[in-house]
Amino acid sequence: MSSEPPIICFKDVYKYYHAGNEKVTALSGVSLEFQQGDFVSIMGPSGGGKTTFLNCLGGLDLPDRGEIFLKNRLMNNMNDKELTELRRKEVGFIFQFFNLMPTLTILENVDLPLLINHSARNQSKQVQTLLDYVGLAHRSKSFPAELSGGEMQRVAIARALVHRPAIVLADEPTGNLDSDNGIKILELMKKASVDFDTTVVMATHNIQIADYGNRHFEIRDGKATIRQS
Ligand code: ADP
Ligand code: MG
Repeated sequence: MSSEPPIICFKDVYKYYHAGNEKVTALSGVSLEFQQGDFVSIMGPSGGGKTTFLNCLGGLDLPDRGEIFLKNRLMNNMNDKELTELRRKEVGFIFQFFNLMPTLTILENVDLPLLINHSARNQSKQVQTLLDYVGLAHRSKSFPAELSGGEMQRVAIARALVHRPAIVLADEPTGNLDSDNGIKILELMKKASVDFDTTVVMATHNIQIADYGNRHFEIRDGKATIRQS
């Protein structure tokens, strides 16, 4: 085990949703730690709590009980502004359905996190570097609808990395791709996690996909366990 403090720490985290009269326990006492540089896969059945876990980790949602630390900062006590700032600076998101802005070009999509962050850096160079990295520099003027699914997900990877976040959260990143393209996306994410020194946390319900990475967890009925592979 590394003696470094964990980059991500969940301590007995609970999250409830209310659907009509029913109370759904989406996370039920989740405690775990990830180290910087980990490539974590979270496996589990649909409805098990994977997306809730990622949303709480990424500051898109707040837990009802327990503590979540990102880079030693307790997220629970943050107000909306602090949480938004932390998310914009430290987190990159990759989604199943890519979530690119359809009216923006590929270049503009990748530039978006920098624009939002009011980065003082030379943005166009950084965007170009990332588009080169994912092999899509020649498509920078195209629109998302003109790309294949695999290409759109590569753009999403570039967008997730362009502001050099500490962590990248990927929710079923291959769920909308055929298996060949899915593998390519996973290989790219794995390479990027090393090249950009980013911790990747990926959720999937697919066991083959879940075998990627160096840390393997399962979330089922809101409970997280270490998965032996
Ligand atoms: P997974 O990503 O593993 O499929 P989710 O985290 O999406 O699981 O869901 C966990 C549980 O929480 C499920 O029972 C789901 O129906 C419920 N849930 C998730 N989001 C909401 C919501 N916004 N409102 C009510 N229930 C929700
Ligand atoms: Mg989900």
